[in-house]
Amino acid sequence: MKIKSAETYLLNIPVSEIKDSQYTVDSINLLVLKLTTDNGIEGYGFNWNTSYGMDIPQLMFDKYLKNVLVNEDPFMRLKIHNKLSSVNNFGWDPRLGSGVEIYIFSMVDMALWDIFCKYSDLPLYKVLGSKTDKVEAYNTHGGWLSWSVHKLTENAIELKKQGYKSIKIKVGSENNDDDYYRIKSVREAIGNDIRIMIDANTKWDLETAIKMSKRLSEFDIYWLEEPLNPLDIRSHSILREKTDIPIALGESLTNKYQFRDYIINKAVDIIQVDSTKVKGITEWLNIANLADDFGINVYPHTNIQQPLHTQLVASIKNGMMVEHVPWLLDVWKYPVEPENGFFYLNKIRGAGTEVRDDAIEKYINSKQ
Ligand SMILES: [Mg+2]
Repeated sequence: MKIKSAETYLLNIPVSEIKDSQYTVDSINLLVLKLTTDNGIEGYGFNWNTSYGMDIPQLMFDKYLKNVLVNEDPFMRLKIHNKLSSVNNFGWDPRLGSGVEIYIFSMVDMALWDIFCKYSDLPLYKVLGSKTDKVEAYNTHGGWLSWSVHKLTENAIELKKQGYKSIKIKVGSENNDDDYYRIKSVREAIGNDIRIMIDANTKWDLETAIKMSKRLSEFDIYWLEEPLNPLDIRSHSILREKTDIPIALGESLTNKYQFRDYIINKAVDIIQVDSTKVKGITEWLNIANLADDFGINVYPHTNIQQPLHTQLVASIKNGMMVEHVPWLLDVWKYPVEPENGFFYLNKIRGAGTEVRDDAIEKYINSKQ
């Protein structure tokens, strides 16, 4: 089998406006890759950013990398990775494991896995030899920093009614007392039988993180996510010594060496590797298995990629929960949405990366 063509589509999809300590988001900029083989199989990959920016990897791919894929055997993923790595027009180097090229590697790797799954006529989680077809969900769409305390608590109560056992609340307010009051209010509203995770989106410095983790620990916090600058492994290690709350991170890391260094420096408790931030499914599996070697569990960062990440979590020994945000449900061909706090995977075919034709038509070039 050979790859016959590679096409990209740039979509802009409006979402309900939300805010954390770093960003305001009102749309998802989604770059879709479709590889078509000479026997008619279509493999989909994607990558994304909030609001804008994916025209840059699209330009790089269409102009300089697309032709590398044509006539290659899609089952020889490593050969294709090596060929892409050897293209070096601007001094960018995928071996450095960061930058725009990672977006491209990720979507190509996904599309190659999608072809393999479709050729096998199986969902990815069965190709990978899954442990389950049911994955626990946790809900992030309830903890945005822009929401009032009243809205936050009312929503947390509603999520509990819907069957969620875990919810995530954003922290990193301008005033630390506000964070304390928000978490206290939610804990009092929902009781002690629901897990609460908190996410600072890298906002705090070490002193603030130590102080706030001590103050908030009375609310039985399941994890503290991205408290500090993600490049500062040493400070995470110091923080971890000074708090009982497990430290979670990974959405800002882009290669396996960064994860390795966090792990061997005892600076992290929970790995949140995201297949769209590292080199796709292949690298995601490598990092998840590395974490397992050190007894660390994986809860992948997941804003939009639930159809893929639920399958990946189901397929690794140390995969735990997948994050739910109700975005792009009308974009994926095989969307997944939690029922009573769980994702069910049995209707998915392929890698879960395929986009609906009518979604491409609806959202293409809607705002670039
Ligand atoms: Mg986060």
